[in-house]
Amino acid sequence: MSVSPAIVWFRDDFRLADNAALTAAQQSGAPMLCLYIRQPVPQEFSAADWWREKSLSVFMDELARQGGRLHVFEGDAEHLLPEIVRRSGATSVFWNRRYDPAGRATDTALKARLRQDGTAVSSFAGNVLHEPWTIRTQARQAFQVCGAYWRAACRVEPLPPLPAVQDVAFATVEAESWPGWSGVVAPQLGADGPPWCAMLDSQHQKGEAAAHAALATFLQQALPEYVQERDYPAHDGTSALSCFLRTGQITPRQIWQAVTDADSSQASVKFLAELGWREFAWSLLWDHPDLATRCLRPEFEHMAWRDDPAGLEAWKLGRTGYPLVDAGMRQLWQTGIMHNRVRMVVGSFLVKHLLIDWREGERWFAHTLTDYDPASNAMNWQWVAGCGVESAPFFRIMNPRLQQEKFDAQGDYVRHWVPELARVSQAVMADILKDGCGGPGGYPPALVPHAMARARALAALEQARQAG
Ligand code: FAD
Repeated sequence: MSVSPAIVWFRDDFRLADNAALTAAQQSGAPMLCLYIRQPVPQEFSAADWWREKSLSVFMDELARQGGRLHVFEGDAEHLLPEIVRRSGATSVFWNRRYDPAGRATDTALKARLRQDGTAVSSFAGNVLHEPWTIRTQARQAFQVCGAYWRAACRVEPLPPLPAVQDVAFATVEAESWPGWSGVVAPQLGADGPPWCAMLDSQHQKGEAAAHAALATFLQQALPEYVQERDYPAHDGTSALSCFLRTGQITPRQIWQAVTDADSSQASVKFLAELGWREFAWSLLWDHPDLATRCLRPEFEHMAWRDDPAGLEAWKLGRTGYPLVDAGMRQLWQTGIMHNRVRMVVGSFLVKHLLIDWREGERWFAHTLTDYDPASNAMNWQWVAGCGVESAPFFRIMNPRLQQEKFDAQGDYVRHWVPELARVSQAVMADILKDGCGGPGGYPPALVPHAMARARALAALEQARQAG
């Protein structure tokens, strides 16, 4: 090869538009070598692993349509990337930054190593409106409360999104024989993958174009009623953008611009504030790399969590006898997603009704959510458990029956996801809710009565307070 290529190392940024690393690589004038390095997919892979692989393969097709190729390797990036640089003769590498602890560590080490070898490394802001360390109090401290964080963030205009790259000159390399070269799809996720892959497949649109179509539909159909509708799990009241945000088919900057261009109503303000929670989560993870494993309120480390494998299993399977909880857990298993309101209800049930450590729930969601991200998941679990910086207090215990009566009054969501209850009348549903008596088709009685569970949780909290 006569001209040194510029390597663009894709991670969670499978898109052509608003991709700063890609744009800068093109502007460098060098032919582009597009690269993805897959972490070996574990045998027990997660829904998020599945989603990433699907997103990767759609992006590969997109690059092929542009006349290019995404070269996929598998293994340890710290070893593979310097080797790929050497073999390709590249003198520059471009990437968009990651903010999770493992990604940060890898990128820092690689940047130092490559630069030492004389390779130019350029990195750019990742898939956030504001990088996690940039929004600080006047005293340059981290915000403890999302509302204050978001008010400060809104005073800083985000960078406008970049247009899609066009007419890219791609480098041609014979990479198949290089160490770590990999096939298109991780073998576990091929045709012989577990049956749940097919279930997820039917539930997810994929790719950059699908992400923008989802945004356009949301702006047109659901945004005006977002404030009123966002809490009803049976309604299409939210954007369904979280998976696309996770793997970068769409960026918060693009969403910010589209929403602020569309209108400035209360609904837009509320919707953008939800993106604010995502931003806040990344800033929390930045400051607390152990967000998924350590309670931000230390007194919660003294909670006497129950060891209850049977209860945990019933929760995972959606067999707690609380219809809204069970509907949510079954939706999660079958689709990889769950409505936000229901995430709060099932989380509260696990932590407060069953008194099982929130970290068990965090891990199950990490395994089953297609939109799983280490920042939002950990922050929200701490929020649900009352041990986060800004949680609703632990003693506020959600009553799943009241939550169902309020947010799924006709039982449409429950009937859809819990087929045993699909045909029960409203009167029978009311009995199941009131008495926890179980229902037809083997629908189980309530695992634990609400009043008893509430009293037990409050007693455990009191004990933890005294111990702390
Ligand atoms: P919309 O209502 O349309 O919101 C738009 C975007 O704002 C979302 O796509 C998301 O990026 C962001 N957002 C909304 N609510 C939140 C929130 N509470 N925290 C952070 N960002 C938010 N979201 C994830 O993306 N990944 C997770 O792993 C995750 N785990 C969660 C675990 C629990 C226990 C709870 C209670 C919430 C969790 N969430 C997580 C947040 C939220 O449930 C999802 O972002 C939301 O349901 C996605 O649907 P949507 O795109 O239609 O949301």
